[in-house]
Amino acid sequence: MRIAIALLAVLPGLAAKSTPWVYSTDDTVPEDTIRITTLGSGTPDVRRHQVASSFLIEIGNGDKFLFDMGSGSYQNLLATGQYAIDKVFLSHLHSDHHADLASLYVNAMFGRKVPLEIWGPSSEKPELGLAASIEGLRQFLAWDTFARRRVDMIGRKDKGDTVIAHEFDYKIEKQVIYSRDGVNITATPVEHYTTGGPSALRVDWNSLSFVYSGDTHPTRTLNELAEGTDMLIQQIMGPLPAFDTLSFESQYLLNTSHFTPAQAGEIFNLTKPRLAVIHHATVNDASREALVSDVRDKYPKGGLVINEDLAVYDISKEGVRHRKRIVPERSWGFWHAESNWNSLEAGQQQFAALYK
Ligand SMILES: [Zn+2]
Repeated sequence: MRIAIALLAVLPGLAAKSTPWVYSTDDTVPEDTIRITTLGSGTPDVRRHQVASSFLIEIGNGDKFLFDMGSGSYQNLLATGQYAIDKVFLSHLHSDHHADLASLYVNAMFGRKVPLEIWGPSSEKPELGLAASIEGLRQFLAWDTFARRRVDMIGRKDKGDTVIAHEFDYKIEKQVIYSRDGVNITATPVEHYTTGGPSALRVDWNSLSFVYSGDTHPTRTLNELAEGTDMLIQQIMGPLPAFDTLSFESQYLLNTSHFTPAQAGEIFNLTKPRLAVIHHATVNDASREALVSDVRDKYPKGGLVINEDLAVYDISKEGVRHRKRIVPERSWGFWHAESNWNSLEAGQQQFAALYK
């Protein structure tokens, strides 16, 4: 009888745990957990249901970060309701990893009260590094931010419309580029497009960790960064036809700049994460089976997921849970939200007074 009562007491908890989705609006991150939501899982060829690389990282201590902000990902960020993010980490400066920064920089200033901080790599020449890229972004949006400050920011004294670039030296291996409130973020150089800069990133907090490969060819530095991690998000190029049927360009890229699905299997087998995730693939019903079977050739057992937009990964001491984030189809950003109009009331009154 006692056993029956104990089981009943446990069962509701089990039922809740088995929910296969996360409701964006009412599911807060448990305080012992790192939650990763995929905002974009695709390639530069943005698709309706698969935009380019981006991840929302929510830590149990309340910290929130973005890893990459590829083309199209801003709409999925808004859909999660997290529009006031102020810290972004870039793996490299390809457009499928940073093009939506322009939208985040400008539109999110309404929710953001502090400067937008962006971390990213230097490169072989100063003009190819993060600082130059952000300076270009400022100039690209010069009219926009000037005009908005003149009108929308009246009455506000905060720094929500400013941006700070933290450029790190791309050549340093296992470099801690961020260390605040118990969260460490480490970057290491990887190999992509034969040009210096591309980096893999690792988050460590509360004895939990995950690694994001960025875009890369197999390399010792990534193997070392991924050692002992709970979850490895590994970029791949695929699905792939036979190598000798590919164009010279595709062959060259595979030899210098990307993982094949089989090579992803090799790094998973080497580093043995609690969950292995393949990322940056073109996913549909036809490609799924081919991708999995290529990875499984080299990584026969162990958790494996093909990443898709709005996949959620909760990393805790108990393990890594994979679910899907449920978001409203017609979400609005902060700019349109009624609460924002209320908060801007004082500024609007000042604006009206100015032009009486
Ligand atoms: Zn990419």
